[in-house]
Amino acid sequence: MGRLRPEEISSILKGAITDYESRVRTEEVGQVLEVGDGIAQVFGLSNVMYQEMLEFEDTRGEKVLGLALNLEEDNVGAIIAGDDRHIQEGSTVRRTGELASIPVGRGVLGRVVTPLGEPMDGKGQIDFEEDRDVEVVAPGIIRRQPVSVPLQTGLKAIDSMIPIGRGQRELIIGDRKTGKTSIAIDTIINQRDQDVKCIYVAVGQKDSSIAGVMGELEEAGALEYTTIVNASASQSATAQYLAPYAGCAIGEYFMERGEDALVIYDDLSKHATAYRQMMLLLRRPPGREAYPGDVFYLHSRLLERAARLSDERGGGSLTALPIVETKGGDISSYIPTNVISITDGQIFLDADLFNSNQRPAIDTGNSVSRVGGSAQIRAMKKVAGTLRIDLSQFRELQSFAQFGSDLDAATQATLSRGERLTAILTQNEGEPMPVEEQVAVIYAASNGYLDDVEPDNVLDFESQLLDRLRDSHGEVLAAIRDEKEMSDATKQKLDEALARFSESYRPLDTGTIANVVAGEPEGEAESSEGSGGSGEQGG
Ligand code: ATP
Ligand code: MG
Repeated sequence: MGRLRPEEISSILKGAITDYESRVRTEEVGQVLEVGDGIAQVFGLSNVMYQEMLEFEDTRGEKVLGLALNLEEDNVGAIIAGDDRHIQEGSTVRRTGELASIPVGRGVLGRVVTPLGEPMDGKGQIDFEEDRDVEVVAPGIIRRQPVSVPLQTGLKAIDSMIPIGRGQRELIIGDRKTGKTSIAIDTIINQRDQDVKCIYVAVGQKDSSIAGVMGELEEAGALEYTTIVNASASQSATAQYLAPYAGCAIGEYFMERGEDALVIYDDLSKHATAYRQMMLLLRRPPGREAYPGDVFYLHSRLLERAARLSDERGGGSLTALPIVETKGGDISSYIPTNVISITDGQIFLDADLFNSNQRPAIDTGNSVSRVGGSAQIRAMKKVAGTLRIDLSQFRELQSFAQFGSDLDAATQATLSRGERLTAILTQNEGEPMPVEEQVAVIYAASNGYLDDVEPDNVLDFESQLLDRLRDSHGEVLAAIRDEKEMSDATKQKLDEALARFSESYRPLDTGTIANVVAGEPEGEAESSEGSGGSGEQGG
């Protein structure tokens, strides 16, 4: 009785498996049944996997990549990622046995790439380190750890009231032209000294907008740690569909090396539209708002890949800021409700606030961050603690005050404080502010140091105050930054500095400001006798 040794068994099995694979390979060639609009129906690839890369051979003998997305009983619906003009009925299609992947590596930083990793900026070849599957399974709960490190956006209204933590997913949502992209770009610019790699994914935008974004980042010295993945409106729906996954894969590359990364998806409304277009061409049955039934899954499997990994896994993080466009402020339509339910909170931008020059136009009442509070530095938590309530009381009183009834002193005080708080939370784009400076100015506003400053002068007060603090009280700012805490000693020093500064504060050149606001060119103020604003100069 011959005994089989384990090594023999395993070598026989191995042989069988290798044989099996090679047999499968040779069988897996199909033919195009029908092609058009970047979509092909393919016959004869019965073993193909969902999301497997296919190789089409076109009439010029060139190979074009495709992606199997619709697996039906006797044919496969595939999207063509490249030039489909030379693919015809009868063209050969081969399986690759590999899922869609893109090349990643440190070399993508500072570059603009297509979703398949090809350079788009004319700066030459990119050095890649590895191929990463475009779709991977998100880290499970055991591989994660809670969000506890802040991702500073540099925007006062966000870092104080809607704080974001590294590894969090926070939605930026609002109508068109309400400043959504600006918030994302400022956040990238603010990562300059924070060692966070950034990926800006542009879906279905105009090429000129992307050039603008690139210029802004370059000017701010932020391009060197940023990658732009661009699938513009001039590119195929396929490219637009793949772009967010490609951007995510680049972010994961850094996260898995223990680094911190931030990815912006601008925007997922256009991403859903591209997916809808593809799926209608693939004849998937349309559902609500004509989107295919799995459009929720489209975004959930993308966003759940944002994470903060456990220390055993290197402790890296990927923070995601998806952007969604609403129509008429309606957050209850299909894509907004989906993405709101997948993310850890939302920053809601309001067109009316934007038009009344409250910018960034964040509707603080409707904006939340469900996890970032635990990531906020203690000093900020302390000074911003009552900000949200103060502002909501202010808004409530404001609507009463409109009726013109007599107001008691306490109400007037709340109103005037509220106006100054609202003013201090406005911020120009392209000017993100370090957290210690944010703490100082919010402290000043909520402790009454601005109560005698005209709301129009609040930002001037702020900039003069910050100059003073940087020049003469650097140690106060440094203490907040380094201790991340507002100790009693720091508080006392800050109070002293604020008291002295507010006493000496004079608004800078109010005449000029009034003219600029009135839209008049400087020096051409013929009507200045009548306007009270410039009386100071004449007096
Ligand atoms: P779109 O719908 O086109 O994507 P969006 O919501 O991304 O628009 P942005 O492009 O960021 O909006 O901003 C719209 C305009 O508002 C731009 O001209 C921008 O310069 C201006 N803007 C944005 N934020 C601010 C700000 N904080 N202060 C002043 N202007 C701003
Ligand atoms: Mg935009």
